[in-house]
Amino acid sequence: MDTNLAIAPSQSQSGAILIVDDTPDNLHILFEALTHEGYEVRCVKNGAMALIGVEAAPPDLILLDIRMPEMNGYDVCEQLKANSQTCEIPIIFLSALGEPVDKVKAFQVGGADYITKPFQFEEVLVRVKHQLTIRNLQKQRKELIDALERANQELQRLVNVDGLTQIFNRSHFDRCLTQEWNRSAREKLPLSLILADIDHFKQYNDLYGHIAGDRCLQKVAKTIHNAVKRPSDLAARYGGEEFAILLPNTDLTGAAQLAETIRLMVEQLIITDVPQPSPGRVSISLGVASVIPSLDDSVDTLVAAADRLLYKAKAQGRNKVCIQGNNY
Ligand code: GH3
Ligand code: MG
Ligand code: MG
Repeated sequence: MDTNLAIAPSQSQSGAILIVDDTPDNLHILFEALTHEGYEVRCVKNGAMALIGVEAAPPDLILLDIRMPEMNGYDVCEQLKANSQTCEIPIIFLSALGEPVDKVKAFQVGGADYITKPFQFEEVLVRVKHQLTIRNLQKQRKELIDALERANQELQRLVNVDGLTQIFNRSHFDRCLTQEWNRSAREKLPLSLILADIDHFKQYNDLYGHIAGDRCLQKVAKTIHNAVKRPSDLAARYGGEEFAILLPNTDLTGAAQLAETIRLMVEQLIITDVPQPSPGRVSISLGVASVIPSLDDSVDTLVAAADRLLYKAKAQGRNKVCIQGNNY
């Protein structure tokens, strides 16, 4: 066995290696040599201890003997490959078995490489380094994919969310409205829509400035968002100071109750970041429409109905909820 420990390491290597071998001499030689190269090395004498050691602290690479009492190296490898926590760890078999059938089996059970004993230490070193390089590239690739996935999710969120108020935006609302319309039509379930608009908001902006106006919009949006409880409900910023609340499987009575709750919650909002003494209050007007959709009709009919009712609430003096029946 040529261990050639006299070769000075060109550069300290990094990586945690687990050596599994029932022959103390092999363990000792490999431990000394790999530690000398800069690796962090642990040794165990049998398969059972290997499985425990890998679970306790997963190494970056395993050097695995094949012929061992009780559990042989193939079995250890198969168990590690069957576990999602350990299946990515590369395994290099180190064995005195040199027949092609042994080597083929090693790769079949998931081994990454095969070195025959007696080994040349230089060969062990280059193969170890090679596997660790592949492993690092795989890790980097996975990190990159994860980061891309996160960026994609954030992008998806940004596409659907209104920048100022952080509730859903108009285009997301429009997509959901069409989906819910079709679903409700198929299932013959009621679909309700509330359109809400801040009263005299131009005046608010003129009085307190646009930045205070923006903050007011954020507070009203948050109030509406918090009022909407069911997972299938959707609150969105529909336009400038206008909001839409889509309520699948909700009839007119339920939608009207929610609209009144929202009206009251906004009325009770006290906006503190405007010059005092001022009323520091805003109100909203709301139109509520409900229908059991038909695939023959257009979603626009529901929006138009809610819009007409909103206009009516404004005409009736604002800070009001106007409701219509199914026969709009
Ligand atoms: P009404 O009670 O009839 O709804 O009156 P209003 O003043 O609220 O309605 P109008 O349509 O005349 O004015 C809407 C105002 O909303 C004018 C516009 O500058 C303001 N607005 C729309 N979007 C924003 C925004 O993003 N930020 C701010 N600060 N103001 C906005
Ligand atoms: Mg308004
Ligand atoms: Mg408006």
